[in-house]
Amino acid sequence: MTLDDCKCLDAQDPLAPLRDQFTLPDGVIYLDGNSLGVLPSAAPARIAEAVSHEWGQGLIRSWNSAGWFDLPQRLGDKVGRLIGAAPGEVVCTDSTSINLYKVLFAAIAQAKADPKRRLVVSERSNFPTDLYIAESLCESHGLQLKLIDASDLPGVLTEEVAVLMLTHVNYRTGAMHDMTAITAAAHAAGALTVWDLAHSAGAVPVALNESNADFAIGCGYKYLNGGPGAPAFVWVHTRHAGQFRQPLSGWWGHAAPFEFTPHYRPAPGVGRYLCGTQPILSLTGLECGLDTVLAAEPLGGMTALRKKSLALTDAFINLTEQRCPGLFNLVTPREHAQRGSQVCLSLADQRTPTQAYAIVQALIARGVIGDYRGGDEQMPDILRFGFTPLYLGFEDVWNAVEHLVQVMTLEEWRKSEFNQINAVT
Ligand SMILES: *Cc1c(COP(=O)(O)O)cnc(C)c1O
Repeated sequence: MTLDDCKCLDAQDPLAPLRDQFTLPDGVIYLDGNSLGVLPSAAPARIAEAVSHEWGQGLIRSWNSAGWFDLPQRLGDKVGRLIGAAPGEVVCTDSTSINLYKVLFAAIAQAKADPKRRLVVSERSNFPTDLYIAESLCESHGLQLKLIDASDLPGVLTEEVAVLMLTHVNYRTGAMHDMTAITAAAHAAGALTVWDLAHSAGAVPVALNESNADFAIGCGYKYLNGGPGAPAFVWVHTRHAGQFRQPLSGWWGHAAPFEFTPHYRPAPGVGRYLCGTQPILSLTGLECGLDTVLAAEPLGGMTALRKKSLALTDAFINLTEQRCPGLFNLVTPREHAQRGSQVCLSLADQRTPTQAYAIVQALIARGVIGDYRGGDEQMPDILRFGFTPLYLGFEDVWNAVEHLVQVMTLEEWRKSEFNQINAVT
């Protein structure tokens, strides 16, 4: 693959116009949309309008007149279009961690009806917040959190399992589970499934209803470009929606919040997954992000985005192997069906304890923004690169690898300034 090949692919790319929806700093190749999506160009004016007009002029009237009250449901329907959920099945609210708490509580409350089901199963390499939330819920419900490796599935699914809680695309490795097959195996064992779509929503096609999943949650500020700390989302299969036990039974999840009655009565629909008053300005930013992904619908939607994402990650893998032979191990699966929208590399021969981190820092200094995730005895340090087909092209991939080649050949990673580890990596 040559630079000309990359330019040629960009010239033929039907999704290339989507790049115009974003404001990116000059000279930046952004490979971290899996951690914080980029700014939609429409967001500053839209948020300013929500502040000055809806808040400033409309004041409290805007809960009705500006559509604030049902914003979580309206945005939920937009997310639903990206994850194979029907209108009225998803709401945008709270953080991923908090939403996980709600759905995992509800799943446990349902599964515990059978006393022999005393295990919540998850992956050892799952994102820590998911494990921390599960740990705390297991403790308070007298259950045990069993951590496994992906290769242990489906064998670990015994009649003791209450809930199988997995992240669809692994945040470290970019490995993707087969949601349909694993859900079927869990159901065959009588267990419920909770899926975290943090690295899936807006990144890979997801078909929640078709997969027959039970519960799902996901993140608004990664591939959905909703802005730092944007609200997350919750989905519950309609077969569970009616008996969903909301542990955070706040007034916004009440059937009639403005009746101000002393007893909790859950809302009949997805409003039940809300807790308290919603962050309207953050939801406003999230809508701008969702619209950037939905803008791909007339161009083939998630299917077209997925095709380009795989082509971009293939190109990055091939160019890295071609131009930095022997330097890196590919941590992300090569198999398309098992790969999300990111590529992770580890060092084949790590020279210093901070080398992987320092390479990422040297790349950032050159305008190529990826990130680093530290390892332990079981997992290597990794360089993590997210590929968002909405605003990345093949020439970007070429240039990113060119910078990586230079960082390695010039040994820029040795500079002391790149070896000071920051609070956020
Ligand atoms: C990013 C991410 C989260 C983030 O949770 P917050 O509550 O938004 O901090 C949770 N789970 C997974 C798997 C993630 O990748």
